[in-house]
Amino acid sequence: MNTTGTALPPQPFIGAALSNDGLISGRRQTPWESVVRVRSRRTWFGAVVSVIDTTNQVHSLRFSSVDKAHRALVWIEERIYEPVRQRLNERRMTVAEMRAELHRLLAAEPPDARPVADLLLAQGLFHRASDVHLEPGQTNGYLRMRVSGAFVPLAECSPAMFQRVLNRIKVLAGIPTHIQGQPLESRLPLENWRAGADARVTVLPTVHGDRAALRFHAEDLAPKELAALGLPGEALAGLSAGLQHEAGLILVTGPANSGKTTTLYACLRHVIQRKGHATGIFTVEDPVECRLPGAVQTAVDPQHGIDYIAALRNILRQDPEVLMIGEIRDRETAAAAIQASLTGHLVLSSLHCGSPAEAIIRLLDMGFEPYRISSSVRGVLNQRLRPVPCGCDGADGCPSCPGTGVKGRRAEGEWFEITEAVRRLILDRPMIDDLEALAAASSLPAAFDPPALLPSDAQRADYHQPAPAGHEGGQK
Ligand SMILES: [Zn+2]
Repeated sequence: MNTTGTALPPQPFIGAALSNDGLISGRRQTPWESVVRVRSRRTWFGAVVSVIDTTNQVHSLRFSSVDKAHRALVWIEERIYEPVRQRLNERRMTVAEMRAELHRLLAAEPPDARPVADLLLAQGLFHRASDVHLEPGQTNGYLRMRVSGAFVPLAECSPAMFQRVLNRIKVLAGIPTHIQGQPLESRLPLENWRAGADARVTVLPTVHGDRAALRFHAEDLAPKELAALGLPGEALAGLSAGLQHEAGLILVTGPANSGKTTTLYACLRHVIQRKGHATGIFTVEDPVECRLPGAVQTAVDPQHGIDYIAALRNILRQDPEVLMIGEIRDRETAAAAIQASLTGHLVLSSLHCGSPAEAIIRLLDMGFEPYRISSSVRGVLNQRLRPVPCGCDGADGCPSCPGTGVKGRRAEGEWFEITEAVRRLILDRPMIDDLEALAAASSLPAAFDPPALLPSDAQRADYHQPAPAGHEGGQK
């Protein structure tokens, strides 16, 4: 809380200022005045609301705390601007159109950050951006989005306007705007734009001020079915067969942001469809990225003492049959995953590494007995995301891509089954080369071409929305 009494930063709300002692004031004839007039005689947000001055063209409301005042502002905004927001941004703009519109909005008088934020959110969804970034610089602020792994610069603006846009995003994400210079994380609901969509907003203090990143998540856009991931047929068949097991550990590997989580969700949906909702299907994730009907999902919350281990310990007392552990990050999580898979549970998880052989070596290096690894792991899916070329010349006005020449990505992967031969090799504590050789011979399809092992910028980014409009999730 800002209790120093210093001047507050520019407020996101047109014509209204929120002071740190809980006073909202603004010019009269602003759009919120009518709501204020109706509401002002009642108790509102637990505070006695009083109109302090209605004659001097200044309209003020006093709340008992800055928090209540802030919530009141959000309330006013939602009621008044909701209909406007729905009318705006009803179609997908090209990137050239977005830049022109942002240029106009960012220079408008009086300054108004709302349409800027709305445009970033709505068009970000239309473009299936994975992220939108608000980055403060030394002299200016920069707005960018990332689509199919590539950064798309959108606009540059003055520090004052940048602060307004940033505050507007904070308001929408329920973060009080007077909190500055602290790392923050919150959820920004986007149901107004698209059903089941939201964004995770993270704020990072930098030497030039707060930087915000919005990571989009839209349920209807992520590939739901295994077959829609775009995996080669052999890898898909291997993975599907692996999911038939009643017990064992199935790992999805790949570099950061190679679509591992999307694949894990598709695997779970596959299992839920096959087994039905009655089965005990549990997940532990950090954070829960997608609500999955038929599964019991738990989010890791270290601040409240819920880490992977604590959550898993409780889940195992709840009689699970299938368990998804978002990521194996350390020996303890790996031990829990292996133990659960050896005691009659099907366990799905991901591991950040470059090849299936590396995954096995990592587990051996963590100090597990080879026989435990060989009898628990059923198979490893190693995957990457490959950009799907647009076919255009990368022009700004391309209707199918944001001028990057890339229109979405699809998963590419190999399935490494732990066959009898692999099992025997693991028992001998193999060197990585031996395991790589056997993996190369037995993976389906044959392992990647070497260049694919070096993820380019385009492959490094996460994807929740891999394919552009008109193409079903992840397919070519
Ligand atoms: Zn294009």
